[in-house]
Amino acid sequence: MESGGLSDSYGGYRAQLLERLRSNGTTDMAVLRAFAETPRHLFVPEAFRNRAYDDVSLPIGNGQTISQPSTQARYLEALQLEGRERVLEVGTGSGYQAALLCKLADEVVSVERVPELAEQARSALARAGAKEVTVVVGDGTLGWAPRAPYEGIVVAAASPEVPQPLVRSQELYRVRREGDDLVEEVLGPAQFVRLVGRHGFPAESDAEAQC
Ligand code: SAH
Repeated sequence: MESGGLSDSYGGYRAQLLERLRSNGTTDMAVLRAFAETPRHLFVPEAFRNRAYDDVSLPIGNGQTISQPSTQARYLEALQLEGRERVLEVGTGSGYQAALLCKLADEVVSVERVPELAEQARSALARAGAKEVTVVVGDGTLGWAPRAPYEGIVVAAASPEVPQPLVRSQELYRVRREGDDLVEEVLGPAQFVRLVGRHGFPAESDAEAQC
């Protein structure tokens, strides 16, 4: 595979990275193409440009790192994206993975908790021409409700457990009375705040009191 039409002086290094990913077992052509078409050197600090296409994680400031490409390839393959999805990434970091995701999905929302990194990632994404990515600053363990639901979610940092807001899904129901029966019909996914009350959820303070 060629380096996807990117005209810069890093094509040879990108080709070597692709070889490395293939020999590590990446077979998904769309994932390999995403790596071929994404300029990783734009997402690493100047001082590390010469190592931008090595299969290693590198420091990006604020004590964080850009992840190792072969690890990213594993979870990009695991997502099995077809191109029409809206995807949430938790942990924007450098923005590189968001750029890869935007080649594989229709829309990417990426949440980063460190404002400086989010700002840096936004400019790198703009330079790389990744327009379909929205970077927001916040706690990604809460998800990002304004664009939910997502067809795929990547958590790019270690977590003690699966953050519940990321997997909690809601459905809109229609309930009809038919004679003595109630017939429930699922109308599709939805996103509501909680119904608080005696026959709904306890208020937050009640819930805490129970713990
Ligand atoms: N995907 C990135 C690498 C991620 S490193 C890349 O391609 O470069 C993990 C990132 O997760 C760090 O930037 C860290 O600040 C961020 N992070 C950690 N906890 C977070 C949280 N709760 N919400 C959002 N981002 C978080």
